[in-house]
Amino acid sequence: MAQRQSKDQRSYRTSVVIVGTGFSGLGMAIKLKQAGIDDFIVLEKAEDLGGTWRDNTYPGCACDVPSMMYSFSFEQNPNWSRTFARQGEIEDYLQHCADKYRVRDHIHYGVEFTGAEYDESAQTWTVTTKDGTEYLGKALVSGVGALHIPSYPELPGVADFEGEVFHSAEWNHDYDLAGKRVAVIGTGASAIQFVPQIAKEVERLHLFQRTPPWVQPKPDHPVPESVQRIFRRVPFAQRAVRNALYWTLEARYFAVFNKRLGRIAEHLAKRYIRSVVKDPKVREAVTPDYSMGCKRILLSNDYYPALNRSNVDLVTSGVAEVRKNSVVTGDGEEHPVDAIIYGTGFHVTDAFDDLSIVGRDGRKLQDVWRNGMEAYLGITVSGFPNLFFLLGPNTGLGHNSVVFMIESQLNYAVGCLKKICRGEIGQLDVRQSVQDDFNSEIQSELGDAVWSAGGCRSWYLDENGVNRTVWPGFTWKYWLRTRKADPADFEITAARGR
Ligand code: NAP
Repeated sequence: MAQRQSKDQRSYRTSVVIVGTGFSGLGMAIKLKQAGIDDFIVLEKAEDLGGTWRDNTYPGCACDVPSMMYSFSFEQNPNWSRTFARQGEIEDYLQHCADKYRVRDHIHYGVEFTGAEYDESAQTWTVTTKDGTEYLGKALVSGVGALHIPSYPELPGVADFEGEVFHSAEWNHDYDLAGKRVAVIGTGASAIQFVPQIAKEVERLHLFQRTPPWVQPKPDHPVPESVQRIFRRVPFAQRAVRNALYWTLEARYFAVFNKRLGRIAEHLAKRYIRSVVKDPKVREAVTPDYSMGCKRILLSNDYYPALNRSNVDLVTSGVAEVRKNSVVTGDGEEHPVDAIIYGTGFHVTDAFDDLSIVGRDGRKLQDVWRNGMEAYLGITVSGFPNLFFLLGPNTGLGHNSVVFMIESQLNYAVGCLKKICRGEIGQLDVRQSVQDDFNSEIQSELGDAVWSAGGCRSWYLDENGVNRTVWPGFTWKYWLRTRKADPADFEITAARGR
């Protein structure tokens, strides 16, 4: 177990420091345990585990990937109550995993990671935290994820607004929305889930749309108790369904990347709009003018019906200014509101900007990533030995479950960590040429893909318009590449003292 060096110094020494307790961090803790490595500490900034599934508690919060795939392959849950589980059930699942695999005792709560510095002579990462506690480890694993820093738009005049303001990821459950006039900014994955819920309560909802998303019907339904029973008794049956689901989701990749199939999917989505949205002006306003897949394709059965409600206004003229009690749009119209709710997403491509991560020879991650973040397989960065990213650059997905990507990364990283923890190697640093070749390869595949060429602007792209978030292909190809780390890809240094 990890050792506290001294009470006064507030410093711990361990083999592996993991940051975060979402699917990534928790998965890493479990996999280390399974590999026989018990000497690790998991840092969690909040007072409970769960990552994005702890933070996002907005009404209607649910997964838009089928739960059978959005769970660990080694811990399939026969008890999912719906095909697309809701937030509480996913949070409970993560709590269950922490208990079952006995990783809870390794978690240090209320500890916010602020940075880390690598000491090459000691082959040690020193991790710094907000409260001053230090953690020294042979290796560092980032499981911070991409969706944890809420993005607040800079709306002119918002500081003078006298009503309630909050973000979807920091929902104020103490604020009673009943009978209130509410502005919702954004129509992304989160907003389309909470808008139908709050529309039933509020007096008036002004929904500020900048770009309409492509929305498809969600095949969401309860899983009958009889089916759950079969999954409990015959785990093989659940594995078979999961495998079938995996390949069905992989097939979605064709719709996103094959222009002809993409046009068919767009045609069906437009037909869905026509069949549900009653007002022709709203119909036109919610019809995207960019290719499907350019932004995340959203799934919902209640979003378009919510737009038919008489208390919901879809506003497309853009926010020009916020006043004490209203939001004013570009066309000069004033919308009186009691509350503003941001469904404006997260800092993604700049998520590491506020962290001070210093690798070999004093090189800073912020400097290395100044022109865009990149890594080898999204996991390791040259000059930052023994540091492993989970859901790092270019490993996000638009068509399948990111938990599959996380598991591939866990497998790859644990293979390396076993050697580091046992002292078989001291330092593992990916070669710059290997990282560069990998990134040239994926950027050439991404160059004319739908995210860049689809006619939209999304958080998949960084400020230079380069896609730093999405894996450009089938997930099984990623799985193949991450099955085992190739020693030839790394500069390997023996452990000190050997
Ligand atoms: P998002 O998809 O990034 O959507 C943000 C929305 O806010 C967009 O409609 C955006 O418009 C709008 N917006 C941003 N800044 C604005 C501004 N200054 N003025 C006006 N509008 C502005 O964010 P999200 O809905 O929170 O979702 C983020 C990600 O979380 C998703 O893509 C998904 O990966 C994940 N998520 C997943 C699930 C799940 O079930 N697995 C559920 C919820 C969220 P533009 O489109 O014009 O930029």
